[in-house]
Amino acid sequence: MNAQSRQPVRVAQLIAGEFQQSQSQQWIDVTDPATQAVIAQVPCATPEEMTAAIESAKAAFKTWRDTPVPTRARVMLKYQELLKKHHDELAELLAKETGKTFEDAKGDVWRGIEVVEHAANIPSLLMGETVENVATAIDTYSLTQPLGVCVGITPFNFPAMIPLWMFPLAIACGNTFILKPSEQDPLTPMRLAELFLEAGAPRNVLQVVHGRKEQVDVLLTHPDIKAISFVGSVPVGQYIYQTGTAHMKRVQAFAGAKNHMVVMPDANKQAVINNIVGASVGAAGQRCMAISVAVLVGDAKNWIDDIKNTLASVRPGVWNDSKAAYGPLISPQARNRVLKLIEQGKAEGATCLLDGSHCVVEGYPDGNWVGPTLFADVTPEMSIYREEIFGPVLCIVTVDSLEEAIAFINEHPCGNGTSIFTASGAAARKYQHEIEVGQVGINVPIPVPLPFFSFTGWKASFYGDQHAYGKQAVRFYTETKTVTARWFDSDIPAGPNMTIHLK
Ligand code: NAD
Repeated sequence: MNAQSRQPVRVAQLIAGEFQQSQSQQWIDVTDPATQAVIAQVPCATPEEMTAAIESAKAAFKTWRDTPVPTRARVMLKYQELLKKHHDELAELLAKETGKTFEDAKGDVWRGIEVVEHAANIPSLLMGETVENVATAIDTYSLTQPLGVCVGITPFNFPAMIPLWMFPLAIACGNTFILKPSEQDPLTPMRLAELFLEAGAPRNVLQVVHGRKEQVDVLLTHPDIKAISFVGSVPVGQYIYQTGTAHMKRVQAFAGAKNHMVVMPDANKQAVINNIVGASVGAAGQRCMAISVAVLVGDAKNWIDDIKNTLASVRPGVWNDSKAAYGPLISPQARNRVLKLIEQGKAEGATCLLDGSHCVVEGYPDGNWVGPTLFADVTPEMSIYREEIFGPVLCIVTVDSLEEAIAFINEHPCGNGTSIFTASGAAARKYQHEIEVGQVGINVPIPVPLPFFSFTGWKASFYGDQHAYGKQAVRFYTETKTVTARWFDSDIPAGPNMTIHLK
C-alpha cells in the first residue's frame, strides 16, 4: 500500500527501457495468501503497450546481437553480484507475495542466481565447431547466432527461479526478451528486472509486460517473436505449444507433473521419512518436482505409520514464522481445488490417513491453509492419482516388486521427476535405466539439476525438444550457421566447376 493513499501499489511494466504505469482499464489484485489483503494490483497490458514492448525489443536486437560476447557476460557477472547482494530482500518480497517460508523463498532466489552464474559463462557456451581441411584448403566451422525477440511466460510457483531460467541465458546469447510473469506474484519478477538494468543491461533488451491469456496470445501469434519459453500447467502448456508452433515459433513448454518416489525395503528408513515429508508438503506441494506419490515396495509398506506421524508433526504458517514447515496455497481458488480433490479421493475409495482440509493457523483465519494430507490405498483410476493436486497431499501406493513399481509409474502420462530410495546399486541402476521420467534422483528426493545440466522433463511434462538452461537452452535460444570457406592464394586455371563435390 502507499502510506498516504492506502491504495494498493500499481505494478509497473518495463517497456522501451522505462518502468511505466499501464493505461489499462483492467487490473488484477495481487493478494497476501495468508490474509487476502490486496498488496498490489497488476495491469493487463493494452494492445498499444504490447506493440510498444515488441517493437522496442525488436529495435534493441539490432545492436545487442552485435555487442561483444564478453560484454554480455560481464552484465551477467554484475547481475549475479547484485542478486547476491539483494538476496534476502528478494526472498522477503517473494515470501510475502507467494506465502512461501523465508527459508524456502531463499532457495527460490538462490536457484535462480545459479542460472545467472551459468549465463556468465556464455563465451564458452556459444563456441562452435571447426574442422580444418574438409577438402583441399577448405575449412568448415559453425557459428552460434541469436534468434531475435524471445518470450518467457512464467508460473506463480517460482517467481524468481523460473524467470531467471529464461531471460539471462536468452539475453546472454544475444537475443532480446519479453517476460510475461504470473499475474499472481509479479513483484519479485519486477524487482529482478530493476536489478538487471542496474547491472548495466541496455535498457530495452528486457521488457516486462503483464496480463493473462489475451496478452499471451499477442506474443504467441506476433510475427516478430521468434521463440517462446513457457512454464505452467499441462493444459496451458499444450495450448502454448500448439499455438506458438502453428505460428512458426520455436517453443519449449514445461508443464505439470505427478512425481513418484519409489521406496525399496532396503532403503535407509530415516532418510526416507525425513525426505518424503519435505518433498511432498514443502512449499505446500506447489512445486513441479514435488513428490506426490510414494510407491512403497514390499516390506516398505510397514513404514506408513512412520510417514503419517512425521507428516502430522509439521504444520503450515506465515512466511516469517520460523517454525512453519510451509506456507499457504497461492489463492482461495487453488485451496478450493485441493479441498475438492481431497473429497474426491475419499469418495473414490482411498483411505484418508491424515486430512488437512480443516487446517487452522492461529491469527490468520483467512489464509489459504491446507494441512498435511495423506492417502493410502490409492489406485490409478482415482482423481487424486490422475491429476496434479499441487497441494500438500501425499498418495501412497504399495507394490510387490521394483518391476511392478516401474511399470506402474511408466503408465502415468507425466514424466517430470522421480526418485528411488534404496541401498542397492543394482536396483538404482535398473530404475534409472527403465523409468520413463526425465529427471531421476537416487536417494535424492527432488532432483532438480544444476544449471550446467538441463532441466529435462519428459512426456506430458514437457512439449518441445531443447530443455531449460544448460547447453540445451543455448541451442534453444540460438541458430547454428555453418560456414565452408576457401581462400585463394594462387592463380586458378579457367573452367567451370560443375560439381558439388568438395575436393
Ligand atoms: P498456469 O498454467 O495457470 O499459468 C502459467 C502462465 O500462463 C501464467 O503466466 C499465466 O498468466 C499464463 N496463462 C494461464 N492461462 C493461460 C491461457 N489460457 N492462455 C495463455 N496463457 C495463460 O500455471 P500456474 O498455476 O501459474 O503454475 C503452476 C503449474 O506450473 C503447475 O502445473 C506446475 O507443475 C507447473 N510448473 C511446471 C514446471 C516445470 O518445469 N515443468 C515448473 C514450475 C511449475
